[in-house]
Amino acid sequence: MANIIAIVGRPNVGKSTFFNRLIEKRQAIMDNVSGVTRDRHYGHGEWCGKFFTVIDTGGYVVGSDDIFEESIRDQVELAIEEASVLLFMVDADAGLTDLDKDFAHVLRRSKKPVFLVANKADTPQKAQMAGEFYALGLGEVYPISSQTGSGTGELLDEVVKDFTEEGIEDPNAGIPRISILGRPNVGKSSFLNALLGKERSIVTDIAGTTRDAIDTHYKLFGKDFIITDTAGMRRKAKVKDDIEFYSVMRSIRALEDSDICIIMLDATRGIESQDVNIIWLAERSRKGIVIMMNKWDALEKDHKTAEKVKKEILERIAPLDYAPIFFTSVTEKQRIFQTIEKAVEVYENRTQKIATSALNNALLPEIEHYPPPAVKGKYIKIKYITQLPTKTPTFAFFCNLPQYIQKPYERFLENKIREHFSFEGIPINLVFRKK
Ligand code: GDP
Ligand code: GDP
Repeated sequence: MANIIAIVGRPNVGKSTFFNRLIEKRQAIMDNVSGVTRDRHYGHGEWCGKFFTVIDTGGYVVGSDDIFEESIRDQVELAIEEASVLLFMVDADAGLTDLDKDFAHVLRRSKKPVFLVANKADTPQKAQMAGEFYALGLGEVYPISSQTGSGTGELLDEVVKDFTEEGIEDPNAGIPRISILGRPNVGKSSFLNALLGKERSIVTDIAGTTRDAIDTHYKLFGKDFIITDTAGMRRKAKVKDDIEFYSVMRSIRALEDSDICIIMLDATRGIESQDVNIIWLAERSRKGIVIMMNKWDALEKDHKTAEKVKKEILERIAPLDYAPIFFTSVTEKQRIFQTIEKAVEVYENRTQKIATSALNNALLPEIEHYPPPAVKGKYIKIKYITQLPTKTPTFAFFCNLPQYIQKPYERFLENKIREHFSFEGIPINLVFRKK
């Protein structure tokens, strides 16, 4: 089960404010690195070592308090389908409204856990007034202030309590889980069908008991892998905004559930900002990445086209430079199996553990050759390096003055790790520790 929190509630209760508080730190860091403007409606958060995705449904309900019920229902239903936990936000300052009751009515019928959050409880007095929301029949009321942060820790403790640590509870642990992401019409379904065409390659169809997705287990070229796909999600969206929202939600879900993302682009359109957002979302979630430029058959090409297009992609997603790129045609069955094969290889890159001796033999001479520049007259000495036992490859550099390691030097070290070992397609983390 993916860890996905959706924040629902009528307009103006403070959903976006709370959302920003949840994702603030990580998002700010990533924005700095990438310089990409991105969709603010979803983000990544962490509490007590558990990672989760947050969806702010706020931007999608327009109108005022006399908003029609159908639109509420759509919003809440989409959130219910996608999320593992719902935060239902009300306004302690304004008190209980009819619209809150409408929301509660829909939420009571969902099977997902609902946390009733009374926001704007900025003072203890206001927190006490939040008691009136017990009338909604949704159990415990959590008074918080998104502005001051009070009460949010207690709330999050409860919210993440039942979240899975990654990997546990998964009978298929160890088998690569691959999601196929991309904007509508790039060829995702055709790709899945092409794989399904190899009927004998399918081992089983598991409709998970704890997960709502259908996982299809394949065995091709001697390798096992699972394609994660969200089931029951194919109904037609009514309005354009809905389609956008729906496709974003669906991507998040599939992504959260997988180890490796194949991100499909449309060669007839080139790489667009939505594509860049999806790629960065995968990077931020520390997933393996394979880029698949599809419909390559439909492009007028010469011998330089592939090189040119590749350069263009790399420029758009800089500084991310480690993702393999394939030029494919699903309809002509060109390079589609190579793409899958590469995704499996990327998974192996992600799970490998480099021996400490191999790391030090490779990197210490590089460091000696180009040591960290001195800061304020102080010399930084890196003593040894070791890979930590984490899911995303993480390398700890033990040194005398870890706080003085600068970004460009970190970048240098990352490049050296990539030069010496194969981490193609994989985001890696570097940490600096005192020794
Ligand atoms: P949304 O429509 O539910 O996403 O609500 P917003 O996050 O846009 O917030 C609506 C208004 O409530 C804004 O003016 C916020 O500054 C304000 N607000 C949000 N959280 C709090 C809070 O904890 N205390 C107070 N006093 N105001 C808040
Ligand atoms: P999805 O929305 O991402 O699932 O995209 P579909 O698989 O439904 O494909 C959208 C359209 O693109 C269909 O008309 C496909 O036949 C077409 N298409 C998919 N892959 C290719 C390809 O490699 N080349 C060309 N020319 N068309 C393709």
